[in-house]
Amino acid sequence: MTSSYSTNIVIFGGGIAGLWLLNRLRDEGYQAILLESEQLGCGQTLASQGIIHGGLKYALNGALSGAANVISDMPARWRACLAGESDMDLRGCRVLSEHYYMWSDSGFRSKLKTFLGSKSLSGRVSAVDEKQYPDFFKLATVEGTLYKLPDFVLDTASLLQVLAGKQREHIFRLASESYSFERDDKNQVSAIAIADGKKEFSIEAQRFIFSAGKGNKQLINDAGLENAKSQLRPLNMVYVKGKNLPKVFVHCIGDSFSLTPKLTITSHEDVDGTTVWYLGGELAESGVAKDRESQIKAARSLLHNLFPWMDFEETEFNCFTIDRAEANINNNYRPEDAFCIEESNVFVAWPTKLTLTPNLADKIIERLSVSNLTPTPTANHRGLSDVLEAAEIATSRWD
Ligand SMILES: Cc1cc2nc3c(=O)[nH]c(=O)nc-3n(C[C@H](O)[C@H](O)[C@H](O)COP(=O)(O)OP(=O)(O)OC[C@H]3O[C@@H](n4cnc5c(N)ncnc54)[C@H](O)[C@@H]3O)c2cc1C
Repeated sequence: MTSSYSTNIVIFGGGIAGLWLLNRLRDEGYQAILLESEQLGCGQTLASQGIIHGGLKYALNGALSGAANVISDMPARWRACLAGESDMDLRGCRVLSEHYYMWSDSGFRSKLKTFLGSKSLSGRVSAVDEKQYPDFFKLATVEGTLYKLPDFVLDTASLLQVLAGKQREHIFRLASESYSFERDDKNQVSAIAIADGKKEFSIEAQRFIFSAGKGNKQLINDAGLENAKSQLRPLNMVYVKGKNLPKVFVHCIGDSFSLTPKLTITSHEDVDGTTVWYLGGELAESGVAKDRESQIKAARSLLHNLFPWMDFEETEFNCFTIDRAEANINNNYRPEDAFCIEESNVFVAWPTKLTLTPNLADKIIERLSVSNLTPTPTANHRGLSDVLEAAEIATSRWD
């Protein structure tokens, strides 16, 4: 016999977006479950640098762009969450660095961009007095200026643990090839039918949310949606492991016309406690066409040029490619804020940045509250743990 389960909302994808939504929706009283096809966080979320941006990066042309405006309130919002004083209790999530810095070298354009960026966010960005430099920059043998930004850095593994930990019994693993969407007589998606060779059952819901990052494309296709479109931006990320590496958190602003930092560094630890420098920015964007050896060579050379006082002899370099997945609006533009599109009873959602995830949840909850969806106490998904396994949290690339 085919069993049938029901709930108000089914969320697909267990990155930051899906997990945040699951927590917010359940707090609002909705019955909701999350289905993850692999491991929680295994897409962009664990691969992200964990920077909670305050906007400077998006103001390097001297003007407060839409993106810089939208994002400038986010550090305060996340800090309230970390203190357990907001709509999401993130107590237990580790902060890797309370501060993020920007280092401009002596190049003219670089200085100009940095200056204009800090002017346009005046009051939120300050030049650091050399006497107050973090130890790493006190050793600098090249001329430069250090600025302190309102940004800070989270440990995304602990963020996933906090968010998943509160909802263990509502999160399941379901391989993407083992289900199909069913439609009702109004042609709305009404259920997913699961058949994995051993068991057959269905899960009915009133709303479906696709927050599966890169996987949204396949879901949009499988559900037969017409309006949601995604785009991918590939990156070639380098990480450097070294027992003696200091912890460094900085954007290095380059002497080119690009508005992307030449290098964006965050520092992490692997399972053995070895420091890991994780390198993004222009290096990752321009490295997409490079093979492993060439990308590592480029990273070594850039680090040597930026920090000639550092010795990278006892370090191990590695790299991997990953796609950023975002909505595609107006012919390949990417949204400046978190983005979701509603088609019938399905939401397709991308936070655009980890930083903007709280805004994504606000948008979806607002739309649900004006729709006719009221939480149904009769939803019945308790027995799902008998037929679906739990989804585990993924590990970082350097582990
Ligand atoms: C290298 C890198 C660095 C970044 N650094 C930052 C940063 O410092 N600050 C910042 O704000 N943002 C950063 N970002 C962006 C940020 O990581 C993403 O915007 C955010 O993590 C997206 O979260 P998500 O939950 O939408 O997607 P993801 O984290 O990609 O999660 C999607 C999940 O859906 C699952 N899935 C896929 N298909 C299916 C399916 N059919 N059914 C069920 N589940 C499915 C996947 O397995 C995955 O677990 C960075 C991104 C990258 C790639």
